[in-house]
Amino acid sequence: MKRTAIYTISFTAHCESGLHIGGSQDELTIGGSDNPVIKNPETRQPYIPGSSLKGKMRGELEKQLGRFGGQNKDRPCGCARDECPICRVFGAHMNTRSKLGPSRVIVRDGRPLTGVRIENKTENVINRQTGAAQHPRSNERVVEGTEFSIQIVLQVFDLDNSFSYTDTKRNTHQGGGALQAVVADGLRLVQMTGLGGGTSRGSGAVRFHDFKLDGAPWKHWSA
Ligand SMILES: [Zn+2]
Repeated sequence: MKRTAIYTISFTAHCESGLHIGGSQDELTIGGSDNPVIKNPETRQPYIPGSSLKGKMRGELEKQLGRFGGQNKDRPCGCARDECPICRVFGAHMNTRSKLGPSRVIVRDGRPLTGVRIENKTENVINRQTGAAQHPRSNERVVEGTEFSIQIVLQVFDLDNSFSYTDTKRNTHQGGGALQAVVADGLRLVQMTGLGGGTSRGSGAVRFHDFKLDGAPWKHWSA
């Protein structure tokens, strides 16, 4: 197995609503939010963990391709089949016999482009019997309009030459182009469904823009 290319896909994530990606309970402070956002411990600035974006891309692609749940129940796909875009690009989950090689993508943490404001969104829990609001919870959110700079590093191996992928726009790609098309579809699906917590209640709408592949416009993105 030989690596034949390494690409860097860079882009900006624009928050179209408040964004809540939960931090650890260690960050709880007296008088603070019940549910803080994750922050860099040095700078105290919120960021988008690469693992959050990668996990969401993978989960959405699994749903799209009919590989969500199934034989693995609630676990990620680990089929390691030659034709599986999930196992090839993100790694075959818990499958030590996979011959597909390592995960092709490295998703870097998204760093804020400007100083970030944080809001507290209070949500009531409604008693379904009486309709009364009870014990409100406060959730920290990065405010709408915040932008983060993100990079995804994509590795191509010689064993990807035979891999083909038909994207959600019904275009078929081969080799390294097919890997890029999987990444583009994953990001497109995250853009449609949202990122972080509370997406069913109005949080986490993101729009991706300003894509570059090694500094040049990226032809796999047009959305
Ligand atoms: Zn698989």
